[in-house]
Amino acid sequence: MKSQRKEIISYFKQMDRSFFMDSNKDLAVFDQALPIGFEQTISQPSLVLEMTLALDLHPEQKVLELGTGSGFQTALLAAFSESVYTIERIEELHARAKERLAQLNFQNIHFKLGDGSEGWKEFAPYDRIMVTAAAAEVPKELLEQLEIGGKMVIPVGSSFSQELRLIEKDHQGKIYTTLLSEVLFVPLKGKYER
Ligand code: SAM
Repeated sequence: MKSQRKEIISYFKQMDRSFFMDSNKDLAVFDQALPIGFEQTISQPSLVLEMTLALDLHPEQKVLELGTGSGFQTALLAAFSESVYTIERIEELHARAKERLAQLNFQNIHFKLGDGSEGWKEFAPYDRIMVTAAAAEVPKELLEQLEIGGKMVIPVGSSFSQELRLIEKDHQGKIYTTLLSEVLFVPLKGKYER
C-alpha cells in the first residue's frame, strides 16, 4: 500500500488553523497548543502532524478519534481515510467542531458526544485509533477495538510526564509499543483518568 505521507504534509501546510478557533486567531500561526475554552486546547500543529504521520493512514481505513476538541486533527484524519468516528465529552466543543467540519463539506465523519475513554464499540474494529488526551494507561477497550494489523497513537502518563506511544497489533494479535516522544496533553477523563 502506498504511503500518503507526502500528500498529508502538503495538505497540512495549507490548513487554516485559525478556522478551528473562536478566539486568539492571530496566535494560530504559532507552533504551540492554544486554549479553546473549557480548560481544553487545540493541539500544537507540529504534534498533530507527527501523530497523523505515525498512524500511517490509508484511504480505505476506518479511524477512531478520542477528543474531537476543535476538529483540527479530525479534519486531517478525515481527509486521508475512509471514515472517522470522533468522540468529544464537552457539548460546546462537540457542536462547534461539527459545524466547522460541515462547513468544510466533510461527509465521512461520525460524531459522538460523551465519554470516549472506553472507545466506540458499536463501530469497532478500527484500523487506526488516535487519542488526543493523556490516559494513565492504555485503555484495554481500545486494544480490543483495534483491528488486526491496526495502529494507535496515544499519550500515556501523569499530569507532569507523558510519553506518546505508537501501539501496533500484528497479524497474530500481538501488541507492540514504540515510544515516539515526550508530550504534555490535557487528561483523558473517565475510566482511565490519571
Ligand atoms: N486534537 C484536538 C484539537 O487539536 O483540537 C485536541 C483536543 S484537546 C487536546 C483533548 C480533547 O479531549 C478535549 O476537547 C477534551 O474535552 C477531550 N476529552 C478528554 N477526555 C475525553 C473523554 N473521555 N472522551 C471524549 N473526549 C475527551
